[in-house]
Amino acid sequence: MAATPSLHSKLPLWEPSIFDTMNQVSRKYNALNLAQGYPDFGTDPELVRLLQQAVADGHNQYAPMAGVYTLREAIAAKTESLYGACYDPETEITLTNGATQAIFTAIAASIRPGDEVIIFKPAYDCYEPTVKAHGGIPVLQQLQGEDFHIDWEALEAAIGPKTRMLVLNSPHNPSGTVLKAADLLRLEKLLENTNILVLSDEAYEHLVYDGLEHQSFCRYPGLRERTFICASFGKTFHVTGWKLGYCLAPAALMQEFQKLHEFIVFSVNHPAQRAVCQYLEDPSRYLDLNAFFQRKRDLFLEALQGSRFRWKPSEGTYFQLLDYSAISGEPDRDFAEALAREHGVAAIPISVFNLNREDRHQLRFCFAKADDTLLRAAEILCRL
Ligand code: PMP
Ligand code: GLN
Repeated sequence: MAATPSLHSKLPLWEPSIFDTMNQVSRKYNALNLAQGYPDFGTDPELVRLLQQAVADGHNQYAPMAGVYTLREAIAAKTESLYGACYDPETEITLTNGATQAIFTAIAASIRPGDEVIIFKPAYDCYEPTVKAHGGIPVLQQLQGEDFHIDWEALEAAIGPKTRMLVLNSPHNPSGTVLKAADLLRLEKLLENTNILVLSDEAYEHLVYDGLEHQSFCRYPGLRERTFICASFGKTFHVTGWKLGYCLAPAALMQEFQKLHEFIVFSVNHPAQRAVCQYLEDPSRYLDLNAFFQRKRDLFLEALQGSRFRWKPSEGTYFQLLDYSAISGEPDRDFAEALAREHGVAAIPISVFNLNREDRHQLRFCFAKADDTLLRAAEILCRL
């Protein structure tokens, strides 16, 4: 019998995605799914029409490798008007298959075996495996306290001659906190005169609440020059299934990024790029998102008043952490499973994102859901 040759796994410690796992649990118990981060309400019919139009107009062959030029120009104009930073559409912008591929490619272009990459925990799930798959060594730093702030002394101590990259994510998934101007200024100063790169995951750049401003890394010249910024149109325009995102980086970094992008995907979904390019013409479509999601957050939290959960209102993203320690001492994975099975609400246990799987008895709830879904979920949660 022919034997399959063995593979030396690049990710021997791989586990099934918590998002897939909780989706399955949610389906199995027919629960309200506030677990994986995607909207359960419809896409703007105008965006759907623009996609249909792009297909009908014949944009059905490969897009240029870096992306449709007019879309790159539109991204450059948006970035300049929002953050005052100029990116050259010719050499500093690439359209990607979601923020995920932007992150993968930026790490692949930057990391060689033995390089250290500082990652703050809890962390979105794709950074660490991507670093490891390229032979890099993740150096993990736990964010501190209820506001998940950076421990600056620990960070300074962790930076050494092997440090090649820092990964930051603001607005932050899963905590819902955002970095402030003082944080970026401190980081800019800390990295001054070093050769350290930054990967800034800004997938939720348009989802910031209570008058706070998104601090894009490109606002700070000392950070802009060393940073790959990764963004997601899927998140911004309620079309996570389109998997369209982009990367911004200074030309010298983008050149290396594109060398790999060419062989990872060559180019990404052409009609979706055409549709998004036209959709971007009206800035209210992304500028109004803060108010749109803040109202949903507030609706959800007001409906939870009187429950035994504890929380700090989310500052950004469309996730709200709820602490259930007044209700149960169960591990968060068990509590999340029981919540779906016995009460019909699915959420994400966040110990999986923490350093050493620390269990703080917190679950993450996605509030990018129809008002009715949020109210029904809150009503159930109030009974616990
Ligand atoms: N970064 C963060 C923090 C996310 O939550 C997600 C999930 N949307 C991504 C990146 C990946 O984005 P995309 O779906 O565009 O690949
Ligand atoms: N970003 C989404 C979340 O945090 C999940 C995307 C995925 O399933 N990988 O829920």
